[in-house]
Amino acid sequence: MMVTSTWVAGHGWDEPVLSPRAPLSIDPAMVGLHYGQVVFEGLKAYRRPDGRMCVFRPDAYARRMQASARRFMMPEPPAELFVSAVRQLARADESWLPTDPDLSLYLRPILFATEPCLALRPSTSYLFLVLAFVTGGFFSDAPDPISVRIEENHVRAAPGGTGAAKCAGNYAPTYPAQANAVKEDCHQVVWLDARERAWVEEMSGMNLFFVHGAGLAPVITTPPLDGTILPGVTRDAIIELASADGQRVKEAPMSVAGWRDGCAVGDITEVFACGTAAGVTPVGAVVTSAASWVVGEGKAGPVTLRLRDRLWKAQRGLVPDTFGWLVSA
Ligand SMILES: *Cc1c(COP(=O)(O)O)cnc(C)c1O
Repeated sequence: MMVTSTWVAGHGWDEPVLSPRAPLSIDPAMVGLHYGQVVFEGLKAYRRPDGRMCVFRPDAYARRMQASARRFMMPEPPAELFVSAVRQLARADESWLPTDPDLSLYLRPILFATEPCLALRPSTSYLFLVLAFVTGGFFSDAPDPISVRIEENHVRAAPGGTGAAKCAGNYAPTYPAQANAVKEDCHQVVWLDARERAWVEEMSGMNLFFVHGAGLAPVITTPPLDGTILPGVTRDAIIELASADGQRVKEAPMSVAGWRDGCAVGDITEVFACGTAAGVTPVGAVVTSAASWVVGEGKAGPVTLRLRDRLWKAQRGLVPDTFGWLVSA
């Protein structure tokens, strides 16, 4: 199924409508297609042990879509509209989701400009649309660590640009770097800052965390949100979960040299990435044009595994929802 709501200047938003998923009829001159007034979101609904479906933090994703829309002078979908549309679709497509707890319903809201117009100005009409996909299968016990290639030529985002917005145009330009990473037997790309190409920003569609020190009282750091990093809802959840666990979490810049040297002297013991699609993923090895190194023992470390488990259980309602993150579908 799909849920749609239109916005027209002078009229505002229509009530979201549930309908069978079907091709759209669009004008070939529509603004979204030509000039990229397109922003999207990605969130998930999970099945709780009692069988009820819950959406994880839909209000946080709604706020982020509003921020992305502002950046492109698009109308902001009200949070109530966003949340009710994703709940409506999760309910409608619930029967597609098997009971296997590894699987979840990935919800993809997208907002794009539909006015046929080639003038360089914001569209006067938009479509907000939500689709759902069954996604799986990352396993709860022993996640395989990934290797990453640090990209030194292309940049994902620049100061003053659109890196903090989840806009369609941010993704296709990353494909050449991803292809190069795969060519060098790496799974994913790590992006650096545009000015100095020295500071680590994020990994593909996931935010990065560094674990400093061994034992039970490590310090966890993640690069600060400075406008070039996509503010992940999972990043925020990990900060909350780690803090609630009594761990020290700091937003602090990490340089490539600091990452390499930190691993060499044993200060950095674990690195992991997090995002809605894949949860928490350990990073085991790093490749640059000049060097390559292993993080810790090159496998998932205890802090990574603990936070991964905490997130997994919070998303699926396997622990009390102390943060109020679950909204029933
Ligand atoms: C969506 C996204 C993330 C992760 O955000 P979540 O809200 O945790 O899914 C990180 N980086 C980029 C570039 C993204 O597009």
